[in-house]
Amino acid sequence: MTGVAVETLNKPEATASGRTMRALTLVADRKIELVEVAAPPPPAGGDVQIRIKAIGLNHIDVWGWRGMAFAKRKLPLIVGVEAAGEIAAIGPDVTSCKVGDRVVAYGALTCGTCKACREGRDNLCENVAAIMGFHIDGFARDLLNMPARLVVPVPKTVSFRDAACAPVAFGTVQHMLFDNAKLEPGETILVQAGGSGIGSTAIKMAKAIGATVITTVGDDAKAEKARALGADHVINYRTERFESVVRKLTGKKGVDVAFEHVGPDTFNGSLLCLKRGGRLVTCGSTSGQSITMNLFQLYLQQYRIFGSFGCSIRNIHESLAKMAGGLTPVIDTEVPLAEFERGLARLEGRQVFGKIIVMF
Ligand SMILES: [Zn+2]
Repeated sequence: MTGVAVETLNKPEATASGRTMRALTLVADRKIELVEVAAPPPPAGGDVQIRIKAIGLNHIDVWGWRGMAFAKRKLPLIVGVEAAGEIAAIGPDVTSCKVGDRVVAYGALTCGTCKACREGRDNLCENVAAIMGFHIDGFARDLLNMPARLVVPVPKTVSFRDAACAPVAFGTVQHMLFDNAKLEPGETILVQAGGSGIGSTAIKMAKAIGATVITTVGDDAKAEKARALGADHVINYRTERFESVVRKLTGKKGVDVAFEHVGPDTFNGSLLCLKRGGRLVTCGSTSGQSITMNLFQLYLQQYRIFGSFGCSIRNIHESLAKMAGGLTPVIDTEVPLAEFERGLARLEGRQVFGKIIVMF
């Protein structure tokens, strides 16, 4: 991106230290600026202060950047929904981590006390305040304070770059495949858009447990890369009808699980690819919001459909453990902080294969 100027958005408030810091701030639809804002005060109580090192881009960033009619929020807004960093300071009541620890953070401000939170189903919190980087200020800044209970330690062998994919991309896929769809070794899964950040993650996670993976991509170069990740069958959806190919590949039986996030362009096709009693799990709809569905087909075929959004803190632990075990994210591009918008444009244009990471 050109023309990013570091400017003063608001006169930085005087803080205890009087320091300022950089923050990537959405000031209008499709307009992100790198500005100087007041640095946070020392963390109080059970809060920690995190120095951000890497930000993972996700499609929710594109939604936020474009502007969504239903997203209640006030601009300017600091962007960034998933990140890795290190503890810069801790509040007096914090015992779970110390200065210098490498961490990632859960990106939704949950209450920590409702039934869902107590049961570890954090993404079903009854009192969730907001999604950081979408409704309220997010992670794309040098420093931020947040509750220590939302922070997860990063294993030594996992880089900041890779760890930045754990809270949203890896966590979401872990939750979709194993908590919701309950994918098992030996089953067959259709992964839509295998070149995306979550699609590439789903291919690797499904292969790692011994599932057979069929995936769709939009061009031959991506097909090669998907095969290199271990996908057993790759379909170029621009040149072949994926529903027919899947039927052929599965001897007309269909797949056990369909992994969806594309939406109207593929959703009904994904349902058609399921075997009787098959499971479809979806976490997105990048091609639009609404579809019409054949209800006869839904109940006669006994499909199970799971809506999935985000993950639990446990899923982030599981994701980082997988990374430490060698199941690392597929990185498309690393961009410097000032080129955040270039990353978003690349993501929006579906040119990516894997994750785009913004490095601080
Ligand atoms: Zn809660």
